[in-house]
Amino acid sequence: MEVFQTVDDLRQARWENPTKIWGLVPTMGFLHAGHLRLVEQACEQNDRVGVSIFVNPAQFNNPNDLEKYPRNLEQDLDMLKQAGVDLVWTPTPQMVYPASYQTYVDVEQITQKLEGATRPGHFRGVATVVSKLFNVFQPTRAYFGQKDAQQLAVIKQMVEDLNFNLEIVACPTVRESDGLAMSSRNANLSPTARQNAICLYKALTAAKDALLSGQQSAEMLRHIMTEIIESTAMTQIDYVSVAHPQTFSELEKVESQALLSMAIFVDGVRLIDNILID
Ligand code: AMP
Repeated sequence: MEVFQTVDDLRQARWENPTKIWGLVPTMGFLHAGHLRLVEQACEQNDRVGVSIFVNPAQFNNPNDLEKYPRNLEQDLDMLKQAGVDLVWTPTPQMVYPASYQTYVDVEQITQKLEGATRPGHFRGVATVVSKLFNVFQPTRAYFGQKDAQQLAVIKQMVEDLNFNLEIVACPTVRESDGLAMSSRNANLSPTARQNAICLYKALTAAKDALLSGQQSAEMLRHIMTEIIESTAMTQIDYVSVAHPQTFSELEKVESQALLSMAIFVDGVRLIDNILID
């Protein structure tokens, strides 16, 4: 496995054998089994696999959140080596955004809702850095988790709008044995908060069960989820949503598809999760 910091070194290694099919897995590091699932799928479907590890300042609307984001490059590189990754890019913020930097990518409508509404500028930062990753790696396929459902939709829209020549592959959410979605941010939970964090999955599955039993009122489904979160200590709701999975507009009645999703602070740590009903 080769590890590079500069764009020039990465590009050179990427193009050493141009006929190979490359898969790319963009990450912010502090890797877990959810990331490794993406890597595994990338290894199955491509000749070579590249991973980026970059905590992207442009997608953090809160400097404190950026500072507290967990990092452990050495451990990440060990995991990626074991997983059979070929190339890792670990640029510094100055390499990605030099002092003269002034170009950003804005995906307009779907970024106005949910994560975009509560984290202004977040998706602009995501779309910008992912565009740069696509340009630097020029992968045949890029892998993203369903855990960040809106991010996945934003990237797909951007790829279509800007004619990026690659396939976006969506991977299902990997969960801990009690249902908590794996996330680098889980490392910031105290043991009690970690216990309480199960409420996200509990709330989502309760709403899903109600929906599958015939409850079509989105308001009732939001109510079911809200009650479960509010009855759990240490929690604060950012949003609870029953939305259309392509437009992310809130639904009144669930007819066929719905994205049940939420962002919850558990003891100050912001966690997101979702279940797609198709
Ligand atoms: P992050 O490092 O959190 O930016 O995540 C990098 C990629 O891994 C994104 O495409 C995420 O959606 C994906 N990912 C993060 N957590 C999970 C998970 N628990 N299951 C599946 N994919 C995940």
